[in-house]
Amino acid sequence: MELPMRSTGDVFAPAGRVAELIGRIAARPGVGDIPVACFYAFDVRTRMLPFLFYDSRMLPGGLTAILSAFHSAGFNARGVFQMWSPNVRPSKCRLDGKPIQIMTTTAMQINSAPSFELIQDAWSMGEDRPLILAGGPKAIYEPDHYFGLGPKGDIHADAVATGEELVLLELLDRITANRGVNETVLQAFRRCRDEALLDDIPGLVFMSKERDAGGRPVLHNTGPQRLVQDLDELPHPQIGLTLVEPKHRAETLSPMPISPNKLHNVVRAISIVTTRGCRFGCQFCGITAYSQRTWRHKSPERLADEFKVLREKFNVPYFFGADDNFFNDRQTTESILTAIAATTYNIGGKTKNARQAIRFCTEATATDVYNNRDLIPLARDAGTWAIWFGIEDLSLKLVNKGQTPTKTIEMFRLLNEN
Ligand code: SF4
Repeated sequence: MELPMRSTGDVFAPAGRVAELIGRIAARPGVGDIPVACFYAFDVRTRMLPFLFYDSRMLPGGLTAILSAFHSAGFNARGVFQMWSPNVRPSKCRLDGKPIQIMTTTAMQINSAPSFELIQDAWSMGEDRPLILAGGPKAIYEPDHYFGLGPKGDIHADAVATGEELVLLELLDRITANRGVNETVLQAFRRCRDEALLDDIPGLVFMSKERDAGGRPVLHNTGPQRLVQDLDELPHPQIGLTLVEPKHRAETLSPMPISPNKLHNVVRAISIVTTRGCRFGCQFCGITAYSQRTWRHKSPERLADEFKVLREKFNVPYFFGADDNFFNDRQTTESILTAIAATTYNIGGKTKNARQAIRFCTEATATDVYNNRDLIPLARDAGTWAIWFGIEDLSLKLVNKGQTPTKTIEMFRLLNEN
């Protein structure tokens, strides 16, 4: 899997950019009146072991991240997880009695079919349709698939984000800054696009005004995203968790999202962003290029706070770290684990430590866990409960990440002991 990267020295956005954009957008008149529906597409045909049953009890982190960004920027947003509310249609969505003005759809490759159907449904609204934005893994690796939809190939997303929350916020900032009085978000987007006001926002793909020699529309790709270096800049995930549509079979949105004190009835595990990236550069893996050879993380203090707030507020004990390689950097990993292990939790009026209060599951390379195996007891004290490994080849002949049978056996022995 290959993606282009930004040139050295231009990979990261300026520090503080997320807060700057959120503050600017939220201060603009009328933003709070813009209804937004964020869909996480799910194709029921893809349900399979080993995630069957558990898959319906974990909210995708991408959905809560997008919701947190929209809400922090002042929008009236609701999130729809299609596994829970499969029949909700963009054309039927109303928030506070108003049709949505922005629809986002996030999908993995295997869930792209319902993502495309959502877009087609939104287009059935004609000129009253919302601005349609697509994101997530499918959009990152194959953004062009979000164009040329429908029987005639004339249905498409308005813009596809090939990056993270920052790309969305940059786009929203540009649209809201240029939106005229009484102009819809879609109208403002079209004007920005046609006046080339979106061309300097990296991480977007949209249909330009240009036509090729055969008269066909041309896609404009603004290049690889800039990354938020300090993940503490991202909005707190607790925000998005309060904006999720309840489980139901209706086509419309409920009057209210799931109440925070009822979330644990449907959510068994919360997805949490701790680190992003991996120091290994395996040829078959898209993570290295997507992360532009960087490894980023939240601070130990921020993560300790997130675990505490999420555990105490939502009463959900399991956490899934959306990590690529949690043990990538020893010093950082040790600092994070130390901070989490030192945190106490108030669970039902009783004080508990991390080992008692949380069950943190994450992903890491076998080599880095083995090399830092002295941290395994600390990881357990920090509530670490499971680590997923990608051990593709013990012979080292096809995939060499430094793993060997001896190291792997020893590592699993230590994990089992703890
Ligand atoms: S070790 Fe795993 S996450 Fe890291 S680059 Fe290789 S396959 Fe990707």
